[in-house]
Amino acid sequence: MPYLKEIGLDAMEYQAVRSIRIGRKVASELGSAASENGVLLTIHGPYAINLSSNKKLVRRQSIQRIVKSAEIASWMGAFHLTFHPGYYSGLPRDLAMQTQKEALKNVLDKMGERKINVELGPETTGKPNQFGTLEELIELSTTFEKIRLTLDFAHIHARLGGAIKNRSDYEKILDAVERSLGSERMRSLVVHFSEVETTMKGIGERRHHPLGSGYGPDFKKLAEVIMEKGYSFIIICESPMLELDALKMKRILTSFK
Ligand SMILES: [Zn+2]
Repeated sequence: MPYLKEIGLDAMEYQAVRSIRIGRKVASELGSAASENGVLLTIHGPYAINLSSNKKLVRRQSIQRIVKSAEIASWMGAFHLTFHPGYYSGLPRDLAMQTQKEALKNVLDKMGERKINVELGPETTGKPNQFGTLEELIELSTTFEKIRLTLDFAHIHARLGGAIKNRSDYEKILDAVERSLGSERMRSLVVHFSEVETTMKGIGERRHHPLGSGYGPDFKKLAEVIMEKGYSFIIICESPMLELDALKMKRILTSFK
């Protein structure tokens, strides 16, 4: 954490993507180190989650994993838990949505019982077979008070076949979120960014790339919109050059001040 402060970064995503076995003591030590250094923490839950699986056992395990991750987040003082909501699993879209809502209600009830107060952030996903279009996640965020989507621009870009080209493409996405969630909930929105390569077919994410590699989307255009509108997002860099690109992004943002 002192390292992050020293190089000038003020937010970090703790990745619990393969294992969620961190204990309370270690988690809270990490949390204190973060707050002492002015670093805001978010957490990314395990990849093995499918809330709209057609198998009950998978849904139950997914619910447990999210609740467990939320508990760890609360130990750490992380305010937001990002996770991939799952797959359509052969279900029609409306049924997948209904299954997601039931499972998330279950997660929130369990969190309530344990007095875990963490924002749930299902993430816009990058592959066509994954639940999690922008529209679907806006719907979840307006259905539940404690749910606020994680907006991953690389995934939206890849899923729509490289759709984010101009400033207006960013504006359309952000306007849609603001219109539905209200400007108050737009503050401290968690945003993921990286350049991304799409699959051979052109639809869906293949690989994340460093900033400036030319794959798109273009961070500069996003930064312009953010600064102009005065948004105060928590921006998490997901490029393979984590700290370097996070710093680059910060420099680009401040250059528009
Ligand atoms: Zn992401």
